[in-house]
Amino acid sequence: MTHVEVLTEDRALHSKGSKLALDACRDKLLACVHCGLCLEACPTYTHTGDENDSPRGRIYLMRAVKERRLAPTARAFARHIDRCLGCRACERACPAGVEYGQLLEAARADLLPIKGSRNMRERLLRFALDHIWPNPKRLHLVFALLRRARDAKISGALSSLLLRLRLEEAAFPLLLLQASAPNMKRENPIISVTAQGQATERVLLFLGCVTEGLFARINRATARVLSLNGYEVRIPRAQVCCGALHAHAGDVSGAKRLARWNIEAFSEDEAAPIITNAGGCGAMLLSYAHLFAEDPAWAERARRFSQRVRDISQQLVQRDLRRGAPLNTGPVTYDASCHLLYGQKAEREPLRMLEAIPELKLVPLEGSERCCGGAGIYNLLEPELSQSILREKLAHIGRTEARILATGNPGCHMQIAAGAIMLGMKLEVYHPVELLDLSYERAGFYAIKAQDRRH
Ligand code: SF4
Ligand code: SF4
Repeated sequence: MTHVEVLTEDRALHSKGSKLALDACRDKLLACVHCGLCLEACPTYTHTGDENDSPRGRIYLMRAVKERRLAPTARAFARHIDRCLGCRACERACPAGVEYGQLLEAARADLLPIKGSRNMRERLLRFALDHIWPNPKRLHLVFALLRRARDAKISGALSSLLLRLRLEEAAFPLLLLQASAPNMKRENPIISVTAQGQATERVLLFLGCVTEGLFARINRATARVLSLNGYEVRIPRAQVCCGALHAHAGDVSGAKRLARWNIEAFSEDEAAPIITNAGGCGAMLLSYAHLFAEDPAWAERARRFSQRVRDISQQLVQRDLRRGAPLNTGPVTYDASCHLLYGQKAEREPLRMLEAIPELKLVPLEGSERCCGGAGIYNLLEPELSQSILREKLAHIGRTEARILATGNPGCHMQIAAGAIMLGMKLEVYHPVELLDLSYERAGFYAIKAQDRRH
């Protein structure tokens, strides 16, 4: 589809009087000078070759909607905004400093009223965002059921059956669940930290709903590694989901509601850094300052909150990181979570965490900085393009000959591990902090103690 076609489509549906979120983005839209330097960084553009699937093309569409030359109900607008991964690789490539992530959020907010009735997937997503995610008890129950299905191998058996029937698209959500299972059972599964020194700084740990629901082992490893490196770790009990799913779906008011709860929950010690171990959550928590920038009642609190947010790797490398024992794993490779890299700007820090494991053979991954196609629930909403992007990632991983991949976000973890299961690749996926934790365990820094570590 050419731009001329896009810009003339669907004018009849357009209402000149309606207020749009994009109306507030005039300067951000005009910042784009259409140079095209972002195009090759954009996975959707390089996969489809369609200018409308590029950052520049999407900005054209947003501008056309803002200037009332295209209705927000136009199919082209929804299609190409939906197909954006929200990975923000274009932001780093852009010499003009275009804040694409914020533009995308506004475009999705303008699509939200239209989306509710589009199809069953959209309706299910809406229901989950409105009735499950904001309610910790319901969310806890949903994750408990998912873990039960995973650990009883129900999801594994069903996905194998569907794969045998060549129904990959139907099998993939089950593979994602299966991919969240631990790679191994430790011989001594119950551990406490015994070798920590005097805690000299307090940190507050953000658990994340998916991480705590399906990867609680990563949160426990994060707490142990922080303790061992001299931090007192506290976990505010009233914390909730970061709101990333809502924000990415265009539900800004839902995201703000969760953000307010988190700002309150983490106000118990306003000097303590807020530590995350999930790139998606971390980038969202950092964006609270932007989310409330125009709200006099919350702007200052949100700004101070966002200033305290750090990825576990960013916190740990501020001091001499304690070294563990060798893991003798063979080659390990690292894939950067887009939101960790482009949102939280953690590029070298996760690698430095891995370098604290003696003798670890870290092999570079071509395209490590490119999205894996997971992108929150993009893999469920846009399966075709997501799979195409994932297969390219898996091909690069295969060429490294590494059997272990480290990545710092649960969505990327599940996407890559599920793809590996689907293609029959021998690959285990870990969070970098899990590997460091294991290295500390091998070094004898932990002791067995009764405590539940099932997921
Ligand atoms: S966020 Fe990612 S997918 Fe979307 S336009 Fe930017 S580079 Fe492309
Ligand atoms: S690099 Fe920046 S200024 Fe150039 S087209 Fe892309 S978004 Fe626009």
